[in-house]
Amino acid sequence: MIAIYPGSFDPITLGHLDIIARGSRLFERVVVLVSSNPNKVPLFSTAKRIAQIQASVGHLTNVDVDHFDGLTITYAKRYNAQVLLRGLRVLSDFEKELQMAHTNKTLAHDIETLFLSTSTEYGFLSSSLVKEIALFGGPIDHLVPDHVARDVYQCYAQTQPAFKPSKMVPPPMATSMMSDLHPPSLPSET
Ligand code: ADP
Repeated sequence: MIAIYPGSFDPITLGHLDIIARGSRLFERVVVLVSSNPNKVPLFSTAKRIAQIQASVGHLTNVDVDHFDGLTITYAKRYNAQVLLRGLRVLSDFEKELQMAHTNKTLAHDIETLFLSTSTEYGFLSSSLVKEIALFGGPIDHLVPDHVARDVYQCYAQTQPAFKPSKMVPPPMATSMMSDLHPPSLPSET
C-alpha cells in the first residue's frame, strides 16, 4: 500500500521525520509530498525543501520525495496511493485535520486519511517554532537535522549560536518562552 505524506515542510523538522519513519514501517512506500499552501509564503523554495527532505530520509529505502501544486487527492489518484498520512499534535491540529480529511473524502471516497499521533517529545514542535527561535538567534539543532539548521541560520543571516541545549525543552517551558516573543516579520505560519 502506498501512502502520501503531504505538507509544507518549511522546513522539515524532527517531528515530521518521526512521522515519516513510523509511516515507512507501516506502508510499502511513503511519498513525502511537498505541496504549496496558498495561505503561506514559504521561507524555502520548493526545490530547497525537497533537497532538505531527501538529505534527511536517505536511510529509508521505501521513502520518496516529490512535489505537486494541485490537490493532494489528484496526485494520490495518479499514483494509486490509498492513504494520506498526517500527523496530530494538539487539539487545534485535530479541527483542521478533520476538516481536511472530510473534504478529501468528498473528493475521493476510496482514499483514507490516516493520522499518526506525535511522539511525546515532538508534541510541541512545528516549522514555525523553529523559524521563530532561529530568527532570534536561538539554537534549533535539537529540533531539525543539522543541514536544515544551517540553511535556516543562513536565511536569517544568523551564525549558529555557540550554546547548545543539553536536552529537549519540555513543552510547558517552550510555550511560556514563546509567548514572550513578538517576531517582527515571520515569513509564514506552518
Ligand atoms: P501543512 O502546512 O500541510 O500543515 P506541515 O509541514 O506543517 O504542513 O505539516 C505536515 C503534517 O505533519 C501535518 O499533518 C502536521 O500536523 C504534521 N506535523 C507537523 N509537525 C509535527 C510533529 N511535531 N509531530 C507530528 N506531526 C507533525
